Amino acid sequence: MRKLVFATNNDHKLRELKEILSSEFELLSLNDIGCTDDIPETGTTLEVNAAQKSFYIWDKYGINCFADDTGLEIEALGNEPGVYSARYAGEGRNATDNMLKVLEKLKNEINRKARFRCVISLIIEGKEKQFEGIVEGMILEEKHGAAGFGYDPIFMPDGFSQSFAEMSAVDKNQVSHRGRAVKKLVDYLKNI
Ligand code: IMP
Repeated sequence: MRKLVFATNNDHKLRELKEILSSEFELLSLNDIGCTDDIPETGTTLEVNAAQKSFYIWDKYGINCFADDTGLEIEALGNEPGVYSARYAGEGRNATDNMLKVLEKLKNEINRKARFRCVISLIIEGKEKQFEGIVEGMILEEKHGAAGFGYDPIFMPDGFSQSFAEMSAVDKNQVSHRGRAVKKLVDYLKNI
């Protein structure tokens, strides 16, 4: 089976991706390759950040790999928090703080439209290719559910009556930004 490194330290994402990719690839984590570095993410776009992470691994280890970067883009907030989603409430704050900040900013806001956008940067033998996945939805008035991570409890994808945090991992993967970007990644990998 082909080996691929997923350049992430996020266990939730690793588990999600293993579920999607398990029949096609042996997915290795940063741990598996002995990488404990704090990989820089200093770009101002998802595209730049994703490439920064994947090229870091390729340059240092020379292993085929991919990295992703995701942002929650809220229409009424001019697409905030976007590339700053992980630290929206400030450095050292957690997902709950980030969600509270969003809910506070959207208080009395009628337009709840939002989307998750995921960019994957894949490097095969030094050549990069990017894949984008988007899921449209809305920001709920309060948190619902306890599964998943990040902003899952306050995001409800279009066409569903549950938040991401109330859906099973399998159901979420089928419609999620990352699931969609990964599907493009897998389709591409199957044909090279
Ligand atoms: P990352 O670039 O994929 O690490 O994502 C940046 C931030 O976006 C994370 O720290 C989360 O706050 C948020 N995020 C990314 N993916 C998801 C998701 O599937 N559900 C909820 N929040 C997410």
